[in-house]
Amino acid sequence: ENEHEKIDYVFKVVVIGDSAVGKTQILSRFAKNEFCFDSKSTIGVEFQTRTVTINGKVIKAQIWDTAGQERYRAVTSAYYRGALGAMLVYDITKRPSFDHVARWVEELRAHADNSIVIMLIGNKADLVDLRAVPPADAVEFAEDQGLFFSETSAFSGENVETAFLKLLEEIYKLI
Ligand code: GDP
Ligand code: MG
Repeated sequence: ENEHEKIDYVFKVVVIGDSAVGKTQILSRFAKNEFCFDSKSTIGVEFQTRTVTINGKVIKAQIWDTAGQERYRAVTSAYYRGALGAMLVYDITKRPSFDHVARWVEELRAHADNSIVIMLIGNKADLVDLRAVPPADAVEFAEDQGLFFSETSAFSGENVETAFLKLLEEIYKLI
C-alpha cells in the first residue's frame, strides 16, 4: 500500500454480529493478513484500512470494528452513519449467533442507509466438525433478505479476501 497514491474513494464498512464470532480477526486478516492467537476482546481500535483497486479506481476501505459493544442495541447509530457496506458475522459453530442475525439486520435497517450492501459471513469455517449452522440455512436467509453470503475462516484466511472484495465491488457498482 502506497500512502502517496491518490485515493479516488473512501468506503466506510462496518463489521457487526455477536461477540466472539471473529469480527476482529476477520478484519485483521483482511487489513494486515494477520491472525492473532491471544486476541483480547476489542478495546480501543476503531477502524482499520486497506486500499484496493477496483476498475482502475483506488479505493480506501475504512472498516469499523465494534469496541466490545455487541450487546443488542448497544451499538450506537454513529457507528452506522455513512456506512456503505456491512459485514454481518456469525460463527458456524454457534447456532445462537446465527439466530441473532435477523436482529442485526433490523439494526442495520433502522440505523444505516437504505442502500447499504450487506455481506452475511459464516466464520470459523475451519471448524467443520463443530458445525451447527448448515450453509443452506444461511443461503435461504440471505436470499430472503437480499444479502450476499460467504463462509470464511479468519484462522486459515479462506474466503476472507474474496468476501471483502465482493462487498467493495458491490458498493462500487452503486456509486
Ligand atoms: P469478536 O468478538 O467477534 O471480535 O471475535 P474475535 O475476533 O475476538 O474472535 C473470538 C475468538 O474466536 C478468538 O479466540 C479467535 O481466536 C477465535 N476465532 C476468530 N476467527 C476464527 C476462525 O476463523 N477460526 C477459529 N478456529 N477461531 C477463530
Ligand atoms: Mg472484536
